[in-house]
Amino acid sequence: MPTFEYAPAPESRSVVDLRTSYGLFINGEFVDGGGTAFKSISPATEEVLAEVSEATDADVDAAVKAARTAYTRVWSRMSGADRGKYLYRIARILQERAREFAVLESLDNGKPIKESRDVDIPLAAAHFFYNAGWADKLEFASLGPNPRAHGVVGQIIPWNFPMLMLAWKIAPALATGNTVVLKPAETTPLTALLFAEVCQQADLPPGVVNIVTGAGPTGQAIVDHAGIDKLAFTGSTGVGKMIARAIAGTRKKATLELGGKAANIVFDDAPIDQAVEGIVNGIFFNQGHVCCAGSRLLVQESIADEVERRLKRRLDTLRVGDPLDKNTDVGAINSRAQLDRIVALTDAGESEGAERWDNGCELPSKGFWFRPTVFTGVTQTHRIAQEEIFGPVLSVLTFRTPQEAVAKANNTPYGLSAGIWTEKGSRILWMADQLKAGVVWANTFNKFDPTSPFGGYKESGYGREGGRHGLEPYVKTGA
Ligand code: ADP
Repeated sequence: MPTFEYAPAPESRSVVDLRTSYGLFINGEFVDGGGTAFKSISPATEEVLAEVSEATDADVDAAVKAARTAYTRVWSRMSGADRGKYLYRIARILQERAREFAVLESLDNGKPIKESRDVDIPLAAAHFFYNAGWADKLEFASLGPNPRAHGVVGQIIPWNFPMLMLAWKIAPALATGNTVVLKPAETTPLTALLFAEVCQQADLPPGVVNIVTGAGPTGQAIVDHAGIDKLAFTGSTGVGKMIARAIAGTRKKATLELGGKAANIVFDDAPIDQAVEGIVNGIFFNQGHVCCAGSRLLVQESIADEVERRLKRRLDTLRVGDPLDKNTDVGAINSRAQLDRIVALTDAGESEGAERWDNGCELPSKGFWFRPTVFTGVTQTHRIAQEEIFGPVLSVLTFRTPQEAVAKANNTPYGLSAGIWTEKGSRILWMADQLKAGVVWANTFNKFDPTSPFGGYKESGYGREGGRHGLEPYVKTGA
């Protein structure tokens, strides 16, 4: 229970001008899709926000053709400096309309407004600014001789950071001279459609960015389309494997950013209060709907009781509820299907013998909610130590030596991220060297920056996004 109550501090919805229905964004215009329209709901209230078109194979074909024409006639002929101007313009519009995007993101996704306002949308704008700077400097980015675009890029993104993932995908693609067909996730299409309006506002040449909405079959149509030169996917490992199989033997290139089961490792010399904040940020940020979430806490045995006690006391103060309330720390679970997955895995945790604790907070009666939950007494073989839960659930394991911490941290099919908490710099470097994870944070967690590459080892995927490395998959080099 919170130690004291806050008065409600809701952000106004009036800044968002929702239409009742949305078409597909193809060749610079909104058009009706040929499939069966679907509804996007607010996961916090189950209110229908808007109806959205479903793109069929024919619609995806039209989008790919529009992207090809725009590539051949306009975008590939434009100088990098001029492409950069469009990216700067988009970045500035995102800043100007940041509040509108943040409110819509929280409505459609369920994430707290303080996160969409302070993290998702500013970072999305930052990715456009950052990549805009590279557009006329690709020869100096150490990408290899004569770097140039692939052509038409198909991009498929998940629901956990809808606008931010869009920016991670579209900004480097456009900066390097590619044109895009992007599909947002079926539960969170609305900010991508608002972004389509931004493309119109920025006078981006028609067809450079196309947004097609729909579920798995629409994504599959993008993957299978012969006119796609390169794919970029962020989502589950299962779908990532299907995509890898589907393009094997074709000329299509791909980057896959998939699941994770990150270890957040706390040594006995760590500053415990800061580590507790890092643990909370690691797994309860964005309801734990984070592929690089610190979902496995590995804590040195000598301080395990102390960390557990302070962690639970801190979790008692987390406010769960209305995503639009500025005091909310933890918002809604994105969908009923995701809630069902979290319930199934946490039930397995209990039946396999781990000890379950939650903060006992009151939950709203409508919508999809899950209390911040901690499992102690978790062993390596438990499903909650092996499988990605993608929810506000922390599994706690202990270790005695650094070698044991490394062995446990690496005992997973994934390898996206890891965290280390210790005051010893030499130990940080030694651990970072041993950990099979694409990103290793030291005495912090879930820090993102457009200049910093992000991506996985093993079943967390391949390719990097962000930084100079994030440009590489979008160019071919050589003669
Ligand atoms: P999650 O729901 O865990 O984020 P998914 O991999 O199911 O992961 O979804 C990520 C994105 O992949 C979404 O946009 C989804 O619509 C899309 N998708 C789902 N199935 C397929 C598929 N077979 N081919 C291509 N894209 C797909």
